[in-house]
Amino acid sequence: MSENRVALITGAGRGIGAEIARTLAADGCDVAIVDYAEESAASETLEKLAACGVRARYYRCDVSDFAATKAVVDAVVREFGKIDILVNNAGITADKLLLRMEEGDWDRVLSINLKGCFNLIKHVTPYMMRKRYGRIVSISSVVGMMGNAGQANYAASKAGIIGLTKSVAKEFGARNITANAVAPGFIRTAMTDALSEEQKQAMYKLIPLGSLGETQDIANAVRFLVSDDARYITGVVLKVDGGMYI
Ligand code: NAP
Repeated sequence: MSENRVALITGAGRGIGAEIARTLAADGCDVAIVDYAEESAASETLEKLAACGVRARYYRCDVSDFAATKAVVDAVVREFGKIDILVNNAGITADKLLLRMEEGDWDRVLSINLKGCFNLIKHVTPYMMRKRYGRIVSISSVVGMMGNAGQANYAASKAGIIGLTKSVAKEFGARNITANAVAPGFIRTAMTDALSEEQKQAMYKLIPLGSLGETQDIANAVRFLVSDDARYITGVVLKVDGGMYI
């Protein structure tokens, strides 16, 4: 379905983004990874993409940097010829109760998680408009819908992604560009592996399906939203959370 498509995926060096990259590459997409870490940190991901027989390149960039993201998007178009799919996945947390949260904690999380999405969408959409084709998927979180004590900055950034997505869907629909969000619940990653058994058991009680999600569950949702099967779907928030937020 995604054959000959070019996907730009942020934060795809590891974690959920790497799984999304591998899944789209397995469907035949060429992949541009935009990530903050040194390229060597993503060597395993790049090897997996190469094994899929697609073109894959790594671009080191901070998604919160407006000018740097413009330069990267231009470079991807120069080197791959186009960008059909944008997946805004890069994100961080800086959890603290609001009483202890510093201005810097707020600014950092909002600039990477929310302004990062704006930057990429802003620079990619002119190219998508010219081709009259685009699929944009941004990774939000159930926390953006539920709120969460200790995550006011993160929850605000993830709720902001939902408003951004719906607005972009309305502005660009006539150009055959869809914009959707995926809202993961608790997903098994390095972050959740570090939790104690007791913390995990407490989490399972909040999830009707009774277990953590896998990175592949998120990648499958993204794969659907960028596929032709989702051509008439725009402005939605697809929850992938085992029923955690109903
Ligand atoms: P992760 O393992 O921490 O990976 C995040 C990736 O984003 C890393 O490769 C990281 O690079 C990159 N990144 C961070 N800051 C960046 C910046 N300024 N510019 C470019 N890249 C940057 O996180 P994850 O668990 O896979 O989560 C991926 C997305 O899903 C995030 O948006 C997260 O909020 C969301 N999410 C995750 C869960 C979950 O349970 N894991 C639940 C809901 C939503 P470095 O290697 O340099 O740090």
